Parts: sequence; structure tokens; C-alpha cells
Amino acid sequence: MSIKLGLVGKNIKYSKSPQIHQAMNNMYNLDMTYELFDIEEAELSSYIQRVRENRLKGFNVTTPYKEKVISFLDDLTPKAKRIGAVNIVYKSHGKVIGDNTDYDGFIGLLKYHNIHVTNQEVYILGSGGAAKACYVALSDLGAHVTVVTRNPKKHPLFGNMISYDNLDENKVDLFIQATPIGTYPNISDSVLSKDQIENHRVVDLIYAPEITQIVKNSKLGVNGQMMLIIQAIESESLWLNKKTALTENLIKHLKEVIQNE
Ligand code: NAP
Repeated sequence: MSIKLGLVGKNIKYSKSPQIHQAMNNMYNLDMTYELFDIEEAELSSYIQRVRENRLKGFNVTTPYKEKVISFLDDLTPKAKRIGAVNIVYKSHGKVIGDNTDYDGFIGLLKYHNIHVTNQEVYILGSGGAAKACYVALSDLGAHVTVVTRNPKKHPLFGNMISYDNLDENKVDLFIQATPIGTYPNISDSVLSKDQIENHRVVDLIYAPEITQIVKNSKLGVNGQMMLIIQAIESESLWLNKKTALTENLIKHLKEVIQNE
């Protein structure tokens, strides 16, 4: 019987995850299906129940449920606990567990693009689920991290939070763009102006379009494609309990899948 997986979220028609997982299944000859579950919040608990009853092997979680799903889970991995957000659910030793592979995807992206962050001043734009995974990853890598938000307040995870009005770009070594601004259909939008970004490096977590306005305006910009690919590979490794190697061939193939869809 084929292994059933999927993505739980809201308004997720845009997602490339089914194509990515299908491509991996074809490549490794796996008998798996990966569906989009576009659901209301009230249905969340029934999807946990499907995993508990082995009707689903597990699922990825995306906006707006990365934090909301936590209360329905039996346990979190230490990584997901620190981040406070979950993007993957699976069953282990009879318990339904939440974990976070956005963290691994983001670190993998930095490595892939040779971006060194230790002792660098890194500013994350936005404070949502993806920003939280990046914040913990950057802190673990020894970066000095500031979160730029529309509404600065005390937050249990983020040390430094500032408003966009108090942003002095001269102090910044690297921006991480973790808002949805610039994604389809509003692809000419950018959360920072050209003046603010043109002498700076930016990692935009958005992967569609491939080159967002903020990446276009920056000195050196990369998109979120590698984060998406690596979090998907790490997710399959967790569901199958078997490490999938991150080969150049696999990366090339998955990039083509994302770009051609
Ligand atoms: P989210 O939980 O909805 O959070 C996005 C954050 O962006 C919000 O918390 C908000 O922060 C800020 N924001 C929202 N609307 C804004 C606006 N109009 N102006 C300025 N800031 C605004 O979303 P997420 O899951 O963190 O995802 C953020 C982006 O990363 C999305 O585009 C998503 O597709 C992308 N992403 C990519 C990957 C990947 O693998 N490449 C993985 C995860 C996410 P404040 O309220 O603090 O301003």
C-alpha cells in the first residue's frame, strides 16, 4: 500500500511541494503520494488523528497553522520547541510529534550559497513562522540577530526587535526577507526600498517568483529555493526514517521541477 503524505495549510494551491515530493519518489522509486490539504482550522485535529491511526504517514504544515498545530501534538522535538513552530508532523514510538525542517533548510541554503554569518549583523524582516526558524538557526551559527517588525514588542524568542522606522541599514551585514511581500501576484512589491537594499546582501525566503523585487534591488541576493528543497529532503528522511543524500544531481533535478511548474 502506498505511503500517504501531504501539506496542511490554507490557500496553498501555489505550493510546489507535491511536485518536489513526486520527483523524489520517481527518482528513488518510492510508492508514496503527497497531497495538498487546504483545510480550515477546525479540521486540524482530525489530521493529527489520521496520523495517530496510521491513515497518514505524516504531513508538512504551512501558513497559517505552523504554531496552531502545536496544541494538538503529543510532543515536540527540542528543535521545534525552541523555535515554537512546526512544519512537519510524524509518528514515533506511538506519539504524534512536531518537528521543524525549515531550520535545516535555511542552514542548508546558507551553506549552499557560501554565506557566512558568524559574528555578522543579520536582520530578519518579519516575525512569522519562517522568521522564527531562521532566528534560531542564525543564533546557533553565532550571528547577531535583530528582527524588524511592524509591531515591536517583547517576545519570548526574539531578543532584539525593532520597527522599520528605526532600521539603520548601515549597521546591517545581511538581510533575511521573511515576509510574504513580493510574492505572486504582487511581484513588484518590496518590504524595503531600493535605496535601503542596493548595497546589501539579502536572502529572500520567497522562491516564486525566482527573482523578487528585493533580490533585484540588492547588491547580492539569493532566493529561498534551496531552503524549500532541503526542508523537503529532510522531511522525507524523517518520514522514511532513512537519510536521503543531498546530491548535486538531486538538487539540479528538484530545481528544474520548481522552475518548470
Ligand atoms: P507568516 O507566518 O505569515 O509570517 C510572515 C511575517 O511577515 C508576519 O509575521 C509579519 O511580520 C510579516 N508581514 C506580513 N504581512 C506584511 C506586510 N504587509 N508588510 C510587512 N510585513 C508583513 O509567514 P511565514 O510562514 O513566516 O513565511 C514568510 C515567507 O517565507 C513567505 O513568503 C513564505 O512563502 C516564505 N517561506 C519560504 C520557505 C522556503 O522553504 N523557502 C519556508 C517557509 C516560508 P510582522 O507582523 O512582525 O511585521
